Amino acid sequence: MTLAQRNLITAGFVIALVASILAAQSSHDPDPAPQQHDPQPTQHFQLIAHPVVALTFDDLPGAGNLPPGMTRTQVATNLAAELRKNHLEGTYGFLNAAKMQNSPDAEQALHAWLDAGMNIGSHTWSHISLTSNTAEAFNHEIDLNEPVLKQYAGSRDWHWFRYPFLWEGDTLEKRHAVRSYLKDHGYHVAQVTLDFEDYAWNDAYARCSTAHDVAAIAWLRQSYLDTAAEYIKLGREEEWIAFGHEIPNVMLLHQTAFTTLMLPELLVLLRNDGFRFASLAEVEQDPAYAMDPDAPLKYGGTLPDQFMDSRKLKYPPFKPKPFAQLKGICQ
Ligand SMILES: [Zn+2]
Repeated sequence: MTLAQRNLITAGFVIALVASILAAQSSHDPDPAPQQHDPQPTQHFQLIAHPVVALTFDDLPGAGNLPPGMTRTQVATNLAAELRKNHLEGTYGFLNAAKMQNSPDAEQALHAWLDAGMNIGSHTWSHISLTSNTAEAFNHEIDLNEPVLKQYAGSRDWHWFRYPFLWEGDTLEKRHAVRSYLKDHGYHVAQVTLDFEDYAWNDAYARCSTAHDVAAIAWLRQSYLDTAAEYIKLGREEEWIAFGHEIPNVMLLHQTAFTTLMLPELLVLLRNDGFRFASLAEVEQDPAYAMDPDAPLKYGGTLPDQFMDSRKLKYPPFKPKPFAQLKGICQ
């Protein structure tokens, strides 16, 4: 990074900080001037030129409905091939081994992922919710997942853990109990900074593929990329607010048919934003990943989300995701 880039970043941070102080002051002003006709001042974040990201994939050996004629093995094979093509060997996927039971296709999908040089970590045995279960039940599911991880990972480091739903405990007792269990068993938590809920497009894609609805699929592709761009920007802005600067990122994606189809275009989008790619272990060496919001949060979220919510920080403006359209399309 050049001095000029550092100065730009510092200047951007000062602007963001002053804007947030001004916003905080005006909201605490006991007798503010009437300003309902004035738009809210927009914070301008000086996003850095070359952010870093590690891609990660949840819900291995595959999530969501499949388009007609496609198998889990084909999805995993195509996804891993695209990652290899982009020199992203060693990418982590997080496994729910319960999905392997009585499914030769799921077993073969996991072999295809690993044979292509990718890694696996734990996502609990059956994608259990920590919000609706006890810490004991949750920790038991971490334990249950281990024999399959050991068997498939061999000498690779499978001691990375992704919380299902990014829910880390709705009470401090649960949060602490699971964190200390993970620590005692040698796991690193695979935190997330960038998440646009990519899985939400998949089942719509499966339906629209069955219906051969070309126009609907074109809309799915465009809205997926638009939403990705919007939430990548939001995640980076949240980092400014939560940490005072951007940090190396971890992006949450899922091993679905639609994300596999869209990965080439998503990689172009990231590259056009200046992103370069790094491994999960490299990214999480940043000191921000050792920070713990240590708050009970029913709906957890990304690491910046958790700081925003627990510290009651104000989110910058962002467009909602098109969930209603995704539910209704090709029905
Ligand atoms: Zn998941």
